[in-house]
Amino acid sequence: MQLRIGQGYDVHAIADGLPMWLGGVPIPSDRGFVAHSDGDVAIHALCDALLGAAALGDIGLHFPDNSSEWKGADSKELLRRVVEMLAAKGWKPGNADITIALQAPKLRPHIDAMRNTLAPILKLPADAVSVKATTTERLGFVGRGEGCEAWAVVTIIPL
Ligand code: MG
Repeated sequence: MQLRIGQGYDVHAIADGLPMWLGGVPIPSDRGFVAHSDGDVAIHALCDALLGAAALGDIGLHFPDNSSEWKGADSKELLRRVVEMLAAKGWKPGNADITIALQAPKLRPHIDAMRNTLAPILKLPADAVSVKATTTERLGFVGRGEGCEAWAVVTIIPL
Protein backbone atom coordinates (compact mmCIF):
# COMPACT_ATOMS: atom_id res chain seq x y z
CA MET A 1 0.00 0.00 0.00
CA GLN A 2 1.15 3.50 -0.80
CA LEU A 3 1.85 5.50 2.36
CA ARG A 4 3.41 8.85 3.14
CA ILE A 5 4.50 10.40 6.43
CA GLY A 6 4.45 14.08 7.36
CA GLN A 7 5.55 16.05 10.39
CA GLY A 8 4.62 19.52 11.59
CA TYR A 9 5.66 21.93 14.33
CA ASP A 10 4.20 25.16 15.69
CA VAL A 11 4.67 27.52 18.60
CA HIS A 12 2.70 30.49 19.89
CA ALA A 13 3.43 32.95 22.66
CA ILE A 14 1.15 33.08 25.71
CA ALA A 15 -0.25 36.31 27.16
CA ASP A 16 -2.81 37.30 29.78
CA GLY A 17 -6.47 37.70 28.90
CA LEU A 18 -6.47 35.84 25.56
CA PRO A 19 -8.49 32.77 24.61
CA MET A 20 -6.72 29.41 24.60
CA TRP A 21 -7.79 26.96 21.90
CA LEU A 22 -6.01 23.61 21.54
CA GLY A 23 -7.00 20.69 19.36
CA GLY A 24 -10.13 22.56 18.34
CA VAL A 25 -11.53 22.95 21.85
CA PRO A 26 -11.52 25.93 24.24
CA ILE A 27 -9.28 25.42 27.29
CA PRO A 28 -10.44 27.23 30.45
CA SER A 29 -7.55 29.56 31.31
CA ASP A 30 -7.00 33.24 32.10
CA ARG A 31 -4.08 33.17 29.64
CA GLY A 32 -4.09 32.34 25.93
CA PHE A 33 -2.23 32.49 22.64
CA VAL A 34 -0.91 35.52 20.80
CA ALA A 35 -1.84 34.84 17.18
CA HIS A 36 -3.39 36.13 13.99
CA SER A 37 -5.82 33.19 13.99
CA ASP A 38 -7.19 31.53 17.14
CA GLY A 39 -3.61 30.36 17.79
CA ASP A 40 -4.41 26.66 18.02
CA VAL A 41 -0.84 25.35 17.88
CA ALA A 42 -1.97 21.72 17.87
CA ILE A 43 -4.11 22.18 14.76
CA HIS A 44 -1.42 24.29 13.09
CA ALA A 45 1.17 21.54 13.63
CA LEU A 46 -1.36 19.00 12.34
CA CYS A 47 -2.06 21.08 9.21
CA ASP A 48 1.67 21.36 8.50
CA ALA A 49 2.14 17.61 8.96
CA LEU A 50 -0.67 16.87 6.48
CA LEU A 51 0.59 19.45 3.98
CA GLY A 52 4.12 18.12 4.41
CA ALA A 53 3.09 14.54 3.75
CA ALA A 54 1.54 15.64 0.45
CA ALA A 55 4.40 18.07 -0.32
CA LEU A 56 1.86 20.89 -0.54
CA GLY A 57 3.88 23.59 1.22
CA ASP A 58 2.99 24.88 4.66
CA ILE A 59 0.22 26.63 6.55
CA GLY A 60 1.82 30.07 6.13
CA LEU A 61 1.75 29.64 2.36
CA HIS A 62 -1.96 28.78 2.22
CA PHE A 63 -3.26 30.94 5.10
CA PRO A 64 -0.96 33.99 5.30
CA ASP A 65 -0.96 35.72 8.69
CA ASN A 66 -1.13 39.13 7.00
CA SER A 67 -4.43 38.24 5.31
CA SER A 68 -7.59 39.72 6.85
CA GLU A 69 -9.44 36.58 5.66
CA TRP A 70 -7.72 34.53 8.40
CA LYS A 71 -7.78 37.11 11.21
CA GLY A 72 -9.23 35.40 14.28
CA ALA A 73 -9.82 32.31 12.14
CA ASP A 74 -11.16 29.11 13.68
CA SER A 75 -8.28 26.71 13.04
CA LYS A 76 -10.75 23.87 12.54
CA GLU A 77 -11.72 25.64 9.30
CA LEU A 78 -8.06 25.73 8.23
CA LEU A 79 -7.83 21.99 8.93
CA ARG A 80 -10.97 21.37 6.86
CA ARG A 81 -9.38 23.25 3.97
CA VAL A 82 -6.16 21.25 4.29
CA VAL A 83 -8.07 17.95 4.22
CA GLU A 84 -9.80 19.21 1.04
CA MET A 85 -6.42 20.13 -0.50
CA LEU A 86 -5.15 16.62 0.17
CA ALA A 87 -8.30 15.08 -1.29
CA ALA A 88 -7.82 17.13 -4.45
CA LYS A 89 -4.42 15.40 -4.79
CA GLY A 90 -5.89 11.95 -4.12
CA TRP A 91 -4.82 11.62 -0.46
CA LYS A 92 -6.61 11.17 2.87
CA PRO A 93 -5.27 11.06 6.45
CA GLY A 94 -4.34 7.59 7.74
CA ASN A 95 -3.68 8.52 11.36
CA ALA A 96 -2.41 11.46 13.39
CA ASP A 97 -0.28 11.73 16.52
CA ILE A 98 0.04 15.15 18.19
CA THR A 99 2.19 16.16 21.16
CA ILE A 100 1.51 19.46 22.96
CA ALA A 101 4.03 21.00 25.37
CA LEU A 102 2.38 23.42 27.81
CA GLN A 103 3.26 24.16 31.42
CA ALA A 104 -0.27 25.08 32.55
CA PRO A 105 -3.14 24.41 32.71
CA LYS A 106 -3.15 20.62 32.72
CA LEU A 107 -4.56 19.31 29.43
CA ARG A 108 -5.45 15.77 30.52
CA PRO A 109 -9.17 16.59 31.07
CA HIS A 110 -9.42 17.94 27.49
CA ILE A 111 -7.57 15.24 25.52
CA ASP A 112 -10.62 13.15 24.58
CA ALA A 113 -12.56 16.26 23.54
CA MET A 114 -9.68 17.19 21.23
CA ARG A 115 -9.56 13.71 19.69
CA ASN A 116 -13.34 13.65 19.22
CA THR A 117 -13.25 17.12 17.66
CA LEU A 118 -10.37 16.46 15.26
CA ALA A 119 -11.36 12.95 14.15
CA PRO A 120 -14.47 13.87 12.12
CA ILE A 121 -12.63 16.72 10.39
CA LEU A 122 -9.90 14.25 9.42
CA LYS A 123 -12.63 11.73 8.49
CA LEU A 124 -10.99 9.24 10.84
CA PRO A 125 -12.22 7.26 13.84
CA ALA A 126 -11.11 8.77 17.15
CA ASP A 127 -8.86 5.75 17.74
CA ALA A 128 -6.72 6.88 14.80
CA VAL A 129 -6.22 10.35 16.32
CA SER A 130 -3.78 10.60 19.23
CA VAL A 131 -3.25 13.72 21.33
CA LYS A 132 -0.58 13.71 24.01
CA ALA A 133 0.39 16.47 26.41
CA THR A 134 3.48 17.17 28.43
CA THR A 135 4.97 19.94 30.51
CA THR A 136 8.67 20.72 30.13
CA GLU A 137 9.37 20.41 33.86
CA ARG A 138 9.49 24.22 34.10
CA LEU A 139 12.45 24.34 31.67
CA GLY A 140 12.74 26.72 28.73
CA PHE A 141 10.15 29.13 27.34
CA VAL A 142 7.37 26.57 27.68
CA GLY A 143 8.32 25.88 31.28
CA ARG A 144 8.31 29.60 32.09
CA GLY A 145 4.77 29.84 30.73
CA GLU A 146 5.85 32.08 27.84
CA GLY A 147 4.65 29.82 25.04
CA CYS A 148 3.19 26.55 23.86
CA GLU A 149 4.71 24.11 21.37
CA ALA A 150 3.10 21.34 19.37
CA TRP A 151 4.39 18.60 17.09
CA ALA A 152 2.34 16.39 14.81
CA VAL A 153 3.14 13.28 12.81
CA VAL A 154 0.65 11.92 10.30
CA THR A 155 0.36 9.26 7.68
CA ILE A 156 -1.62 9.82 4.52
CA ILE A 157 -2.93 7.12 2.21
CA PRO A 158 -4.57 7.12 -1.24
CA LEU A 159 -8.24 8.14 -1.25
MG1 MG B 1 0.50 28.90 14.33
